[in-house]
Formats: sequence, C-alpha cells, structure tokens
Amino acid sequence: MKKVVKFGGSSLASARQFKKVGDIIRSDKARRYVIPSAPGKRNSRDEKVTDMLYACYDAASTGASYKKILEKIQSRYTEIIDGLELNLNLDHEFGRIEENFVSGIGRDYAASRGEYLNGQVMAAYLGYEFIDAAEVIFFDEEGNFDAEATNQELSERLEHVERAVIPGFYGSKPDGSIKTFSRGGSDVTGSIVARAIHADMYENWTDVSGFLVTDPKIVENPEVIETITYKELRELAYMGAGVLHEDAIFPVRKEGIPINIRNTNRPEDKGTLIVESTCRKPRYTITGIAGRKGFCSVNIEKAMMNAEVGFGRKVLQVFENYGISFEHMPSGIDTMSIMLHQDEFEEYEQSVIAGIHRAVHPDAVELESGLALIAVVGRGMKATRGTAGRIFSALAHARINVKMIDQGSSELNIIIGVKDADFEQAIRAIYDIFILADM
Ligand code: ASP
Repeated sequence: MKKVVKFGGSSLASARQFKKVGDIIRSDKARRYVIPSAPGKRNSRDEKVTDMLYACYDAASTGASYKKILEKIQSRYTEIIDGLELNLNLDHEFGRIEENFVSGIGRDYAASRGEYLNGQVMAAYLGYEFIDAAEVIFFDEEGNFDAEATNQELSERLEHVERAVIPGFYGSKPDGSIKTFSRGGSDVTGSIVARAIHADMYENWTDVSGFLVTDPKIVENPEVIETITYKELRELAYMGAGVLHEDAIFPVRKEGIPINIRNTNRPEDKGTLIVESTCRKPRYTITGIAGRKGFCSVNIEKAMMNAEVGFGRKVLQVFENYGISFEHMPSGIDTMSIMLHQDEFEEYEQSVIAGIHRAVHPDAVELESGLALIAVVGRGMKATRGTAGRIFSALAHARINVKMIDQGSSELNIIIGVKDADFEQAIRAIYDIFILADM
C-alpha cells in the first residue's frame, strides 16, 4: 500500500500541530510520501506564512523596510524547530532568501519558500528524504503546468525512494525559475505525486472532517458527506467550500485514485472519500446542497424564437464577444434566459443588450438581478422518484417562490433559482426535507 499524504497550513502551524501530524504519519506505514503546506494560522488573528512572504518580498524588492517581517517569518520556523527539538538551523537558508528577495527574484519564488522551508523541517522531523519540488514539478515557458514531463520525472525519481517529503505549491520553469500554482496549490502537488507513484490513496489532511452536506453558516452542524463522486463534487463546485483546490482532482481522477479528506485535529473521523464511482448506497437521496448569491438573468423574448435557426448561437456569441461566461440557460418556446454572475456582467450590461438587439431583433430584453442559484446534487436522485417534488413542496411550505428550475441531463443535479433574500431559507428547507426527515 502506498499513500500520499498532504497536510494543510493549519495542520502545520506550530510544533504542537507538527506532533499530531507526526503521529498520524507514523501510525500507518503506507503513508510514505508527505506533501506539506507552509505554516498557516495558529488562531483566527494569526497570519499565514505565505501571506507574510508576499508582503516581505514586496517590501524588500522595492527598497522598503522588510527586516522586521522577515524576522517574524524566521521566528515561526524557529518556534517549530525548537518545539520539536530538532537539530536543524535555517540561518543559511534565510540568508540566501534575503539576498534573493532584495535582488527582486520574483513573487512566486518568495511565496514558495514557505513550503520549501517547511519541507526541510518536516523531513528532519520524520527522518524522510527531502526532495525539492523545483526538481520534479515542471511548468512550461508560459507558466502552464507540464503534466507529462512532471509525471515522468517524478515517477522515475520516486521509484527507488521509500519515503520522502516533497513541498507543495511550486515547481520550476525551463529556465530554472520558480513558479507556483494558484493559492491553496499544495493540494495540486499532492495529487500530482499520487498519480506519479500510483498511490492507493491520496489523503488530504486539513482542519475539517470532510465536506459538509451544506454550508455550516446557513445550517447549524450539517452532516458530513461520507462518499462523494468526482462528478458530484464538480456540480457542487460553487459552494466555494475551499476545502480542496479544484485542480487537485484531475491528476488522481485520471488514475482512479480516491481522495480522502481528513481532519488532523480529529484523526479518528473517517472524513470524506472522493471516488470515481461507487456502489455504496448514499445515506441520503441527496449528497449536497450548494449555492451562491449574486446572479442576474437576461430574459429574451421573441415570437417564433423556436423556429429560428441559429438564434441561441447568435445570442451566446454576444456574451462571448465580451468574454462573459454564463452559468445556466433555461428556455421556453419563445423565451430564453441567460443566468450570469452579476459582477462579471455589470460592466458590459448595456453593450450586451444592444448587441442582442442587433444580433437577433428580439421583441423584448429584460434584466433581473438579485438572484441566487442553489444546486441540489446527488447520485441517489437518479434512482429515486419524487426528488423534484420534495424540493418544490419544501420550498412552497417555506413560502419561497422558485424563479428558475434546471435539471441536468445526468439527473445528478437540480438547479433552482430563487431571490437572494430567500437563499438561506431555501437551503434550510431543502436540507430539512432530505437530511433531517431521512435520519
Ligand atoms: N501556502 C499556499 C497558500 O497559502 C499553498 C497552500 O497552502 O496550499 O496558498
């Protein structure tokens, strides 16, 4: 058995957290490849090392004062090293980092040092080999991740390495310069390593016990999702849960490797298992409910629209011309609505309306703002009659008016549009009818 284990910033924020991580790794021999993030927040008022590094670099590279913040960063590591009683000194590393910052080496290099240094600490603590991600994770000249070159190098390099620490979040470009993934990118590194070594499992350790059925800010203490498929997770993507980086799915999904989201502070919890597909019967008909406010719709009306070849294409072309992507497109026989993110659309609003008039000569174009979209997702819906009925009767009971309905052809999701003001209430009503009522 081979497992890749990634630990997020809050799991590695202090010596105390490091010790929990050490216990977790040592309790399972299969946990052979470790991907650390940079130290995160120790409490809600604390700062992430990555944010401090950006700030320090911005100051140092522009001739402003930076020493204080650099010392603060170094003291974060010293605290961990001392707390773990390690025989490790990072003075030399910090000297080099300071020189590079002052010479303006680049923001990506700066940010990556958080993981780089934490990787050294982790390797010393565990007695594992340290492998600099710059030597095994590659980007092209334009800064796009080079999946194949990376996979080849990584699998060759790790073939004969029993146990290793590989810092998350960064790699290198052909000229040797450092490039990072977007924020939260250590998740992506873990996934890439799991693919390269054909891991049996990619464990992603964080500070929550998995994905929740819905947003805990809306529903108190929602249930944890035990198993979710990659597809369901995609449909729930805009819940913005921030638990797992979106790009972390692709590398492991390609190889059929499951991801297990686990909680460093509650290792006894099973967490959420993300899989390609499963025979396991879901506990509830629905797997999750996610939503977001801040949508608007452009409603277009034209008599005989349905008979006009190319109508939809011409309308969508207008949005494309302005680089606006749309979220949903429910339609009637003589009507068509395009649902968009309001903030993306506002700037081009009037130009788009004019563009639609020129393109298809509609009878009317109306805008409606202040809409929220709610996705009710579940592989269990396909086999269950009456799911839509239950959703709509729950909403009717809660006196919520449904503005739009869209069921994906996979029967994996039902999207509901409601007024922004009804958003939270609607989610609670759906949660109650599927989860509380089925408990
Ligand atoms: N340390 C980086 C960040 O704060 C990457 C990560 O934690 O995954 O975004």
